[in-house]
Amino acid sequence: MRDVVIIGGGLSGLAAAVELERLGVPYRLIEVKPRLGGSIMTETEAGFVLDGGAFAFPKSDSWDFLTPLGLADSLITVHEVSRRHLVALRAGTQSVVDALAAQVNGTVLRRMAVSSLGAMDGRFMICLENGLMLEAAALIVAAPARHAERMLRTLAPELSLRLSAVDYDTITRVNLGYRAADLNRPITFPWDVAVPFYMWTENPARVPEGGLLLQIGVRLPPGQDESALSQHLHEHLKPDAPPLVERVDYWPDADPLPPHRKGFAAAMASTLAMLPEGVALAGSDYAGFALAARIASGQAAAARAAAYLRATAG
Ligand SMILES: Cc1cc2nc3c(=O)[nH]c(=O)nc-3n(C[C@H](O)[C@H](O)[C@H](O)COP(=O)(O)OP(=O)(O)OC[C@H]3O[C@@H](n4cnc5c(N)ncnc54)[C@H](O)[C@@H]3O)c2cc1C
Repeated sequence: MRDVVIIGGGLSGLAAAVELERLGVPYRLIEVKPRLGGSIMTETEAGFVLDGGAFAFPKSDSWDFLTPLGLADSLITVHEVSRRHLVALRAGTQSVVDALAAQVNGTVLRRMAVSSLGAMDGRFMICLENGLMLEAAALIVAAPARHAERMLRTLAPELSLRLSAVDYDTITRVNLGYRAADLNRPITFPWDVAVPFYMWTENPARVPEGGLLLQIGVRLPPGQDESALSQHLHEHLKPDAPPLVERVDYWPDADPLPPHRKGFAAAMASTLAMLPEGVALAGSDYAGFALAARIASGQAAAARAAAYLRATAG
C-alpha cells in the first residue's frame, strides 16, 4: 500500500491526518503517548475546566479553522490583567484536538515511539523503539525538533544537525480554582516571579456556579521549584479559603525560542529546503505562533506528501 506515515498525534499531526483524509490519501499515525493532543490537554475537576498546556490566545489570531471543526461558537473572552482581548476555548483547548481526532478514520498506533527513519528502494523505513519496522511511501514528522532531530539522523543528517540547535524555554502552568467570594479584589499577581501571563475567568462554561479560575503561565529560572508556586500565589492573594482545585503543570521544553528571534523565517525556509523528497515536517517548532499556524503546517505537510505520492505513482 502506498500510504503516508505521520509521526506525532499533537495538533499538527492530527491536522495532517484530517487533510490526508480529505485528499483521499491512506495514512497511519504513530503517537508515543496513550493519548492524542501532545502539549494540549484539558481536564475538568469539580466543575473547573483546567488547561494544562495552551490556554488563552489573542482574539486577533485567525480562528477560521474552528468552523469546519464545528467549533465556530466556542470562543469565550477571558480577563487578562495586563493585556486585553484574550480568548479561550469554551470547553478547553483540547476541544480542538478532540474535534480533529473525531475526523481521523485512519489507523492510529498509540504508545509506539519512533526511534529512527531510513530509506530503501524508494520506500521509507520507520524503526520503532519496540523493534518493529514499518514502511511508508511518504513521511510526515509532526513532532517537535528535539524529537525530530533524533529520528532524522540517518535519513537527513544535515537537517537533523540544524534541528538539534532548536532551544526551548520552560513554562509552568498554574490553575487555581476558588469560590469567587473568597477572593479579595482587585485580583493582582506577585512580580517576584517571571509571570508572562495571568488571567482569570468566571465564565460559567469554565467554572462551577460562584467559581473563579486563575490561570497563570510562569517562566521559572532553571533550578527553581515549580511545586512552591501555587502556595506562593495563594499567599499573595490572601483568599478567605484555600483553593477548591489546584493543578500545576511543568513543561521543560514548552516554547521553541528560534521563532522569537530575528531572521527565523529565512532560517527555517533554508532548513526545510534540506528535507528529502517525500518527507515533510509539521508543528510548532517550524511554523509561526498561533494554533491556526500549527494546523496550517499540518495541512501543508499533508499536501506535500500527497503531491509526492502523485509524482512518484508508478
Ligand atoms: C504550557 C504551554 C502553553 C502554550 N501556550 C500557547 C499559546 O498560548 N498559544 C499558542 O499558539 N500555542 C501555545 N502553546 C503551544 C501549542 O500548545 C503547541 O504549539 C501545539 O499544541 C503544538 O502542537 P504540535 O503538534 O506541533 O506538537 P506537540 O503538541 O508537541 O505534539 C507532538 C506529538 O508528537 C509525539 N511524539 C514525539 N516524539 C515522538 C516519537 N518519537 N514517536 C511518536 N510520537 C512522538 C508527542 O508525544 C506529541 O503528542 C503552548 C504550549 C505549552 C506546553
